[in-house]
Amino acid sequence: MLTAAQTGKTTFVFIFLAWAASELGGNAMLVLPDTAMAFEVIQSRFLPFIENIKFDDNETQAVFNKDLAILFFKSLTLHIRGSISRAKLQSVPIRWLIMDEVANFRKGAFETVTKRIRSTYDNKIIIIGTPLEQNDILFENFKEGTQTIFIWDCPYCGHGQPFKFGTRKSLIYKNTESGGFKWEERLLPNGDFDYEFIKNSIYYECENCKGKIYENQKNALINSVRPIDLNPEARKFKHYSYHFWAAYIKWVSWFDIVSEYIRAREAEKAGNPELMKSFVRETLGEPFAFVSNKTRLDDIKSHIKDFKRGELINTQDCVRILTADIQKEAMLIKYVYRQWLKDGNSRLIDYGFLPSLEDLRRYQIMHNIKDKAVLVDSGYLAVKIYAACLSYGWIATKGDKVEGYSYVDPASKKFITIPYKISHIDPFLGTDNAGKRTMPLIRFSSNLYKDRLFLYIIKNKDIVWDLPSDIGDDYIEELSADEYVYSEGKRKWIETATNDFADCEVLQLLAADLLGLTKINLKSENKNIS
Ligand SMILES: [Zn+2]
Repeated sequence: MLTAAQTGKTTFVFIFLAWAASELGGNAMLVLPDTAMAFEVIQSRFLPFIENIKFDDNETQAVFNKDLAILFFKSLTLHIRGSISRAKLQSVPIRWLIMDEVANFRKGAFETVTKRIRSTYDNKIIIIGTPLEQNDILFENFKEGTQTIFIWDCPYCGHGQPFKFGTRKSLIYKNTESGGFKWEERLLPNGDFDYEFIKNSIYYECENCKGKIYENQKNALINSVRPIDLNPEARKFKHYSYHFWAAYIKWVSWFDIVSEYIRAREAEKAGNPELMKSFVRETLGEPFAFVSNKTRLDDIKSHIKDFKRGELINTQDCVRILTADIQKEAMLIKYVYRQWLKDGNSRLIDYGFLPSLEDLRRYQIMHNIKDKAVLVDSGYLAVKIYAACLSYGWIATKGDKVEGYSYVDPASKKFITIPYKISHIDPFLGTDNAGKRTMPLIRFSSNLYKDRLFLYIIKNKDIVWDLPSDIGDDYIEELSADEYVYSEGKRKWIETATNDFADCEVLQLLAADLLGLTKINLKSENKNIS
């Protein structure tokens, strides 16, 4: 089941489990991204939920044994698992497997569990989640199944149709010519969107008669909803897949959908795709598809402006940021120095290489760059870099090949995805000085920052990310050495040649986020996991 956030899918899981406990027997397993979260869901939500259910035999009771991580019903045994532990995922033969929030699973966990259960006779797998990529395992499973969507009847012409957003291309709802959400936009004198005006202009256009359907007619539409298979042959294999999204949910307003889209569209124009990814995945319940993968020389050259290397914008209201990466082969420190304005616009002042970290320190002082505005990649020669960061007050960083970091916010119990996280490490681990102190290390998603740099900022000449007119070919070549590929259903960035200056530019974007120079709040808006 492919769905958006906030569509009541966890409640669906509860209803299924209550039915299974009453009607079926055997072993079942519920897998959630992590164990603590799974326990939380069981204890604070599922147990209160089934207390209110009257089972036919009046005997079906649930006893939760936290040590065994098992919920015992009269005839059904429900094993509760987080996706983190490989051993625990493989331990029991299962008839019923339910996996929720699959997109947040540990890498490989989904494959581990499904492979195991497919070898047992007579079993069922229920997969629920919001998809990430068009090639990911969740979307592949959806495509192989019945692709069941839900249609309703137009109140004017009676034409049956599904809700579709309309303005963006969709991987599921192919007809984007007509139909979908429509609205008018205008700005307030201060330049903000006039959301009150937008709100009052929203309607849904029938894809057949173009009739205007308003939100106060929504309940009637939802009450006429019925399923239809886009891939009916899959019924032969009993592979059922479903998609529905926020528009089908009575408690999600059309204005919420449209205003989220407008904010995401504006952020995307400004070079930040994160809100749009979140909108497509968590509100439309669809994979996010990137448009193109290759950074062309023309794209980079479109940012060259009429100023020379070393020429600063004449303002005090700016932040100078220096980022560095160690080139392994030659043991050189490659660096990029950018001047950032408070509005998120920036200009490349200088780039190049230096023989040592001490030289980088001298360079920093000479150019009057603050200690906390120096970010150094510690992927290589970490111990040396940590020592330099400790003594100079620089910030150590490390890129990870992940799609952001998701965790459960303890206060709201909601999943939050962030592009970087601050961890604390022992810089002397493994030496005689181990255990004496800790220092911060910024871990960041190199995928997300490379998306921003290569697919948004460089490709959009309207974004102020300026390069000097005397920029060298060496810089431009290194900026066009990254491309992304799909492999085993996962998207990843690969380096086709030396790309150290690109890595330095990625660190510039990270620094701008850390120092609050990017207007967009990168934390995806809190989405309820229910
Ligand atoms: Zn119609």
